[in-house]
Amino acid sequence: MNAPAGQLNITFESHQGVLRKLRAGDFCVLIDYQAPAVSDDEKVLKLALAPGVALARYTGADARVAGLSISPVSARPAEVEQLLEPLCRNGDDVAVCLSGRNADDAGLRGTLAALHSHGIGTVIATTGFADPEQYAAPAAAHTFIDSCDLIRLVRNEYPEMCVGACVNPFKYNVSDVYLQYFKMIRKLNTGADFIVAEAGWDMKKYQELQWYLRSRNMTEPIIARLMFVQQRQIAGILDHRCGGVVMSREMAALLERESSINERQATAAQARRIAMSAAGCRLFGYSGIQIGGVDDPQLARTLVDNVKEAFEEFTDFRHWLTAWNDFHDRVEMAPMRQGHYVFKRLMDKDYPDYVPDQSLHAAGPLPQPTGAERLKFQLARALRLERRQGVPFDMARQLLCGRHSAPDWRLDKTFYVCAAACPKGLENGPCGGTRPDGTCEFGHQPCIYHRILALANWRNELESLEAADEH
Ligand code: SF4
Repeated sequence: MNAPAGQLNITFESHQGVLRKLRAGDFCVLIDYQAPAVSDDEKVLKLALAPGVALARYTGADARVAGLSISPVSARPAEVEQLLEPLCRNGDDVAVCLSGRNADDAGLRGTLAALHSHGIGTVIATTGFADPEQYAAPAAAHTFIDSCDLIRLVRNEYPEMCVGACVNPFKYNVSDVYLQYFKMIRKLNTGADFIVAEAGWDMKKYQELQWYLRSRNMTEPIIARLMFVQQRQIAGILDHRCGGVVMSREMAALLERESSINERQATAAQARRIAMSAAGCRLFGYSGIQIGGVDDPQLARTLVDNVKEAFEEFTDFRHWLTAWNDFHDRVEMAPMRQGHYVFKRLMDKDYPDYVPDQSLHAAGPLPQPTGAERLKFQLARALRLERRQGVPFDMARQLLCGRHSAPDWRLDKTFYVCAAACPKGLENGPCGGTRPDGTCEFGHQPCIYHRILALANWRNELESLEAADEH
C-alpha cells in the first residue's frame, strides 16, 4: 500500500542524455538554463552566456544529470545559432524549450533546422508567457503561436524528434483546472510524447496531475519543473508577473523567514525542499524533474546531491508525507481559500496511489453559460457566421461573437466566442497563465476560455476541447 506504482529506474551511474533516458523510461534529471537576450556585441554576449557555458560543462560531466534544458528559445534562427554554438557540445545532452512568443512560421522552421543540425533531439513546445510590459496593452495584436501548432510543426518536419508539451496544474478554480487538463490531452492527441508540469510548491497539485492522467488511462511520461526561487522574485510571483507561477502568501512568508537567517541557511532550506519535492514526484510516478532558477554549477551540484540523498531516504510514501508536512509545518500551499482539487484524498497517507473506484472525484460542477450566451451561440450557429461574408454578417459577428468581425477566426472551434478577445489569439485552448481567480494572464478580464468551457459543457461537447486539430 505504501509504494505507489509506476516508479522509474534511477540510473545515476551512466550518462545517457535526455532523449535516451526518456525513451528508456529512466528517471531523468534536467538542469534548466534561462537563456539571456542575444546581443550583437560579441563580448556582451559572451559575458551573458558565461553561466550557461559553465552549466553546460557541469551537466555534461555529472552522470547523475541527463542534460541541460535551455528555455525559452525564440524563433529567430540567427539568435538560436548564437546560443547553441557555445551551449551545445552534444545534442543528446540538451533539450530546448521552443516558445511561440514573437514567433512566425518561417522563423520556427529555421529554428527547428538549427536545432536539428546541432543534433538536438528533444524539444519542449510552449505558447510562451507574455512579457509583463505587454500587460498594459491586452488589446494589441501580440504574436503568439499556440503550442499545439508548434507540436504539429515539429511532428511533421522532424518526426524522429521527441516533443514535450507543458501543463500548468497549479490552477485553483474548477474551470481553469479542467481547461488545463483538456488542453494537455489535446497536446498529447496532437503528437506530444511527454508532459512538463510547470513549477509550483503545492505537492497536492503534482499528485493531482498524475492521478488525472491515470484516471484517463494515460501513461505518458511527466517531468516536474521545480524552481529554486530567489528572494527578489517572490514579490513578482505574488503580483502575478512571473508567467503562471503561483505561490501562496503563507509559502512566501516561509521563504522570507528562511532567508532572514542567512543566505547559507536559506539555500540549504530550498535545496532540501527541492530534493523532497523530487522524491515526492518520483513516488507519485513522475518520470523526471527539471530544476529551474539555477545559474551556477556549484549550486546545481548541491541540488543534485540533495536530490540523490532524498531518493535514498524516501522510498516509502508515508515516510515522505510525514517528513514533507513536518518540514512545512502544514503551511497552506493553495493561493486562495477553497481552491479546487480534482480528487479527494490527495496527500493522504492511506492513499499513495490512484485506485479506480477509491480515488473519488471532488465535487465541483463545471460552469453553465448564461441565457444570453446560449442565445448568442444559437443565433451565430444558425447564421453559420464562421463562413458567411458581407457587411451584415460582419455586424452579426461583432454583436454575437465578440469585438472582431474578420471571418478568418475559426468561430465554430471556439463555440462562437471569437479568440480575438484573447490577447494571444489562442484557438486551441487556454495558455497556462491565468491567475488563481481565473483572470487572464494580462489581468484585464476573465480568461475567455471560461465562457467557451461553459458552452462546451452545456452542449455536451467537452471532448471537442481535447481533440487534435487537423487544420
Ligand atoms: S484569455 Fe486566457 S488563454 Fe488568452 S491570454 Fe488570457 S489567460 Fe491566456
